[in-house]
Amino acid sequence: MRRRSRLCCVKSAIAVFALLTIILFTSKWIAGPDFTNPDFYRSQNLVNLPQFAAQVFNRHPKKFEFDPNDLKDWHDEEAYQKALARKGLGEQGQPAELVNPDKEKERTMFRANGYNAMLSDQISLNRSVPDIRNPGCIHKKYLSKLPQVSIVIPFYDEHWSPLLRSCFAILNRTPPELLKEIILVDDASTKEFLGEKLEKYVSQYVPKTRIVRLPERSGLIVARLAGAKVATADILIFFDSHVEPNYNWLPPLIDPIARNPRACVCPFIDVIAYNTFEYRSQDEGARGAFDWRFYYKRLPLLKEDLEDKTKPFRSPIMAGGLFAIGRDFFWELGGYDEGLDIWGGEQYELSFKIWMCGGEMLDAPCSRVGHIYRGPGGHLSNPRTNDFLHKNYKRVAEVWMDEYKEYLYMREPNRYAKLDAGDLTKQKALREKLQCKSFKWFMEEIAFDLPKKYPPIEPPDYASGAIRSDTSNNLCIDTLNVGHRQEVGLYPCASDLVYPQSNQYWALSWHKDLRLKMKADCLDVSESYRNAPVVLYECHLQGGNQLWQYDVENKWLVHGSGKSCLEADLKNHKVYVNRCDPANLKMKWSFGHVNRTALAELKINKHQVSEEEGL
Ligand code: UDP
Ligand code: MN
Repeated sequence: MRRRSRLCCVKSAIAVFALLTIILFTSKWIAGPDFTNPDFYRSQNLVNLPQFAAQVFNRHPKKFEFDPNDLKDWHDEEAYQKALARKGLGEQGQPAELVNPDKEKERTMFRANGYNAMLSDQISLNRSVPDIRNPGCIHKKYLSKLPQVSIVIPFYDEHWSPLLRSCFAILNRTPPELLKEIILVDDASTKEFLGEKLEKYVSQYVPKTRIVRLPERSGLIVARLAGAKVATADILIFFDSHVEPNYNWLPPLIDPIARNPRACVCPFIDVIAYNTFEYRSQDEGARGAFDWRFYYKRLPLLKEDLEDKTKPFRSPIMAGGLFAIGRDFFWELGGYDEGLDIWGGEQYELSFKIWMCGGEMLDAPCSRVGHIYRGPGGHLSNPRTNDFLHKNYKRVAEVWMDEYKEYLYMREPNRYAKLDAGDLTKQKALREKLQCKSFKWFMEEIAFDLPKKYPPIEPPDYASGAIRSDTSNNLCIDTLNVGHRQEVGLYPCASDLVYPQSNQYWALSWHKDLRLKMKADCLDVSESYRNAPVVLYECHLQGGNQLWQYDVENKWLVHGSGKSCLEADLKNHKVYVNRCDPANLKMKWSFGHVNRTALAELKINKHQVSEEEGL
């Protein structure tokens, strides 16, 4: 009896306590963090922004002292040899695989992270990576005197081992005298182990590293800003929370900044495979760009960039995730626009500002950093209900793109007309204060070859509308609502063949791909055997598997190099690619609309398409 009443007492005390805590916390949540309140910064051990802004925003980047003749080889041979000797799962960046894993658990952990988290847990946090640098990089010399760096790493619900492997990879392959600190910024993660357990682990085992916690999920941009505000070194480096820098990655990345404090430098981003954790190169460099829907794109290197493949080259737009920038310069540019929510558009904002306001952007081929690109479906949860991405784009366009913003808006007029970009006074004042150049200047001097590949106003389609098989009156190519890499097929045609519903609305575009009119998905054929399947794939503008032509006389949809044609399988409602055959009626197709003039201008050589036409 007594026992029961005591228990009861304890229970009600717990209930009251819980209630109080809930009230306390929700009142804070409802109000949201007040970034203008000095108490917020104090409680977070951050810097008070208004005070901070007065201190640093008006400062011009100081010049770093350097002697162009005082160079050194920063290569650490001892550490390099030790790393080469390492053996084990995933060492040397070799593809790895679990032996007899609990398949169900492996799948669950994969789905939660977008990569094989269970496999990652079995790979050493100190694993070695393959040295895939251009051989000319290995003993290349850089300034002996380089500024120190603060590395800012925002994370939201990152899995344990990739987050810590990021820290150890930095510590293992960075000259200690150049690394001042690593700042992990927790964007209000929900995973329990990222709380106290991480705090303890970091303070015990991860030198030079501290954690800053945001009180509520604010996104990548605000998290980076929070880290940058507390950073104390002269150079800021921003990383994702799942990276592995390669050998001697830092000196080539910051040498250009030591020489020019208004330079911003990006490393080459290598691929850490989401399924096997293999470390491999993505490509040997390209210049960053965008299309007029603000998809990140790449432009080929210029002739002068190819002369010395170890030399940093100018790039119009950064990829976004990984870069180094002088702390003073970053704040001279106002950091990021704080009105940019969660993620998206920030790499355009910063790149435009850098170029237009007196800086330069470089890619350093000798600095390589591996990054886990998440697998299908692995993207982080979306904490917002509004269209924050296009709101961000509109903010960037309104402030920086002058008359060119219309090219963005005209592609999605309804969406942009409805969106309110919010208050832009601060951003416009900054552009005025820094006397930044026009967007026209940026397009003509820096991104001069962008319009050729991504024209602001696109040439008309060669043909568009529904694509009907001539052998049946009523079967059209349809997405069948499949996802990427899955086969499209045939379905009864829409009543309006010129403007059918989106599933059947195709265009043979000026890129010579067969794409969905409403979405940048293309018909892709990667096999060359009989009855090769036709799948839906993101349009890549590289020709090859996605190269198509329309032969008006034969009514053929000719794929690739010109020998294979699209064929209907009327029985199974499927489509295939087979060798073109004039006698085969199932290879004949009609479009809802054909632009005969455009097609006539395009000299179709039925059986030979030059390489160049593939682009
Ligand atoms: N991130 C964050 N808050 C968010 C979204 C992302 O802190 O709301 C972090 C994330 O943990 C990662 C970085 O921002 O370190 C970039 O995100 P992600 O890797 O998902 O982008 P991706 O590389 O896939 O484009
Ligand atoms: Mn990432």
